[in-house]
This record gives sequence, structure tokens and C-alpha cells, in this order.
Amino acid sequence: MSITIEQHAKVENSGTKLATCRFCGAGLHHTFVDLGMSPPCESNLELHQLNQMEAFYPLHALVCDRCFLVQLEEYVSPENIFTEYAYFSSYSDSWLAHAKAYTDLMVKRFPLDHSSLVVELASNDGYLLQYFVQKGVPVLGIEPAVNVAKEATNKGIPTLVKFFGQELAAAMVRDGTQADLILGNNVLAQVPDLCSFVQGMKTLLKPRGVITLEFPHLMRLMEGNQFDTIYHEHFSYFSFLTTIKIMAKFGLTVFDVEELWTHGGSLRVYARHDEDSSHPVTDRARELAAREEKAGFTRLETYASFDEKVKETKRKILEFLIDAKRAGKSVAGYGAPGKGNTLLNYCGIRTDFLDYTVDRNPYKHGKFLPGTHIPIFSPERIQETKPDYVLILPWNFRDEIQKQLSYIREWGGKFVVPIPEVEVF
Ligand SMILES: [Zn+2]
Repeated sequence: MSITIEQHAKVENSGTKLATCRFCGAGLHHTFVDLGMSPPCESNLELHQLNQMEAFYPLHALVCDRCFLVQLEEYVSPENIFTEYAYFSSYSDSWLAHAKAYTDLMVKRFPLDHSSLVVELASNDGYLLQYFVQKGVPVLGIEPAVNVAKEATNKGIPTLVKFFGQELAAAMVRDGTQADLILGNNVLAQVPDLCSFVQGMKTLLKPRGVITLEFPHLMRLMEGNQFDTIYHEHFSYFSFLTTIKIMAKFGLTVFDVEELWTHGGSLRVYARHDEDSSHPVTDRARELAAREEKAGFTRLETYASFDEKVKETKRKILEFLIDAKRAGKSVAGYGAPGKGNTLLNYCGIRTDFLDYTVDRNPYKHGKFLPGTHIPIFSPERIQETKPDYVLILPWNFRDEIQKQLSYIREWGGKFVVPIPEVEVF
């Protein structure tokens, strides 16, 4: 499908900007999945806000037919999303263990010591950099959310409260700062100006430095039906092949990749300057690129089939909830993650199905989920009300949560995960 010059002029005249690809600039004409209208998912509400108007934005993912980057248009300004970010990484045990294991691996594989500099982009509350500090490796965090950056500074992690891009990188280099290791965990997807971000990493990296980036793997998202990991804060969804293309445009070579369990299946890609031959491209990088090629990630039809699969998942989730409520059962939620809000809003699940949800992060207690207005309590609420079912919203932590909440078996309680298919256990 292409848009004629006349149609283009009509769109422009109506004041609507035509969507173009965040990476290659081509026009975006193809739907990946349309999840309807949703509020920004981290904007939990206070009691007094429940009677006020709420902003909803389209959650419509498109795929570029030239570079195959799956992406959302930018409806919500990053300043609105990130200046008061409620996600403190330190509240998850398995996340901390993951961060610790990563630092062990990096120090073992690359020559990092007291004379090196590790820079983390979107360093959150310093949950990861603290492990480099423990090893005596100097660090610098860059974190745009004021409240979480303050937590990091309180812990003794030097943190710049800034958005990262080419402009900041150039200013840092002028001040004599360059990095031996640049890491970005779950940030690449959240960057509105993708090109400036990647160019900034190229600028900030020492000649023999290494970049590692972790982000959800589009192939896993599609295989695992993880449509709830699509939300306004995530502008881009990457295959390995598209990542290689993006890095290459800025003179960076992806030389290695690991497939991780985090966020339902993530990639950790390793990149270096094109000119640096000290890290040859590994077999596992070549193997994954070939696997994606074979799975159809360079063909538009592969992406076009996802939308219908998601609609069927919604029907199955609602089927379970309707049956449970008709049988007089009570259902509570566990967790208040961003992905929960995509799922609940898309499926239209409010307190008619889910009495409440709980979260370990005290920052969220007493608040309400955006759009659905489901109240958030501390986990003790489950012990008090003894629900028949606990719907695990952060299904990527299902094992950890099942262990923490094993006491629900005392009253015959059962767990439910919605993704990839409804499963009761
Ligand atoms: Zn593109």
C-alpha cells in the first residue's frame, strides 16, 4: 500500500503529520498491532484524580517496510513520561541478581579496573552501577528521572540528571570524559530520538571500548504473544537484524549477542567501533542473524499476522474471567507493572473482574492503575482477603512470585498468568 501525492497533501492540510520511521525516515503504512486507546502506563493515579479527565493516547504499533523497525508514533512527550518515573529497579530480587551477574561477567571478559569508566544510560536508582562500585570500577550514571536519580546519588553513585543523545555525549567528550564500557539496559526501546542516541554512544566510546545493550527481543515478543510489553514508553521494538542495521549506520559493529530470559526474552548485544578489530564477530551472532532471516523477519507478511493473534488472546483472557466471576470466584492481581496496564486497558478489565492489585513497591500503595482505576495495595492484602485466583501481571517473574505467595494454597488459591495463553496453576 502506498499513499499518493494527493492523499499526502490532504493529510498535511488536515494538520495531521504523516508517520515516518524513527530510524530510516520511510513512511509508515503497515499495522503491527492496534491496541486501541490507552493512558500512559506509569501514571498511577491518586484518589483525588479519579474524578478528573484522563489522557488516553493511541497504542498502535506500526512496522516500517524498509528497515522492519516496529514502532509507535510519539504521542506522549518523554518529559511527561520520565521526569517522575515510579519504577525503582531495586524492588525486584531477581532483577538485582541479574545486574550482579552482568557486572561479574563484564569484569571477567573485558579489562575493567580502577582506571576505567563505566557509563550507564538510564541508570535508574543505581541498582546496577553499585556492583561496579563494589569492584572498585569508576562509574557514571545518566538518568533523566529526577526522583530516581536522587536515590542513586544518595547511594553514592555519581549521576547526571539528563537525557542522553549526541549533544550530551559531545559535551562530555569536550570535558574529557570517554567510556570503556557503555551500557544501556531497557533504554533503547524508550528513546524517542534513536539516531541521536546511537550516535551519542559512538561519540562517547573510547577507541577500544565496548557497548552492551539489553532490550526485549521482537522475535520472542511475537512467539510468546507478549503484546502487553507494548506501551507508550516503548517507542521501538527490535529484531537482531534491525539492530545490526541501526548500529552499522553509525559506524558500530555488533560482534556478539546473548539471548536472555529477562522481560520474556531479551537480547544483550555487544558492539564496538568498526575500526576496532580486537573483538571478532562471534558464531552465535551469525547464527541468530541467520535464524531471524529464516523466521521471516525480513518479510512484511511475518509482521502482519500478529494483530489477529493478539485479538484471540484477548478473547481467551475475558473468557476465563467471565467464567470465574459467573462461578462466584474472587480474582486479585499481583503487580502493577507497565505491561499490566496495557493488558488491562486493552481487554477492558476493571474492578468488575479484578478486585484490586498489590505491589511490593511502597511508592505505589494507595494509588490506582491508570484507565482501569484498580486500587493498588501492599501484598499483605492478599493474606487478608484470600482471593480464589491471583492474576500475575508481571508474568516474566512468575516463578519468583509463585514462591513468595505460596501461602495462597492454604485456602485453595490458584495462580493465573495471561500470557502467552491463559494458564491456571
Ligand atoms: Zn525504517
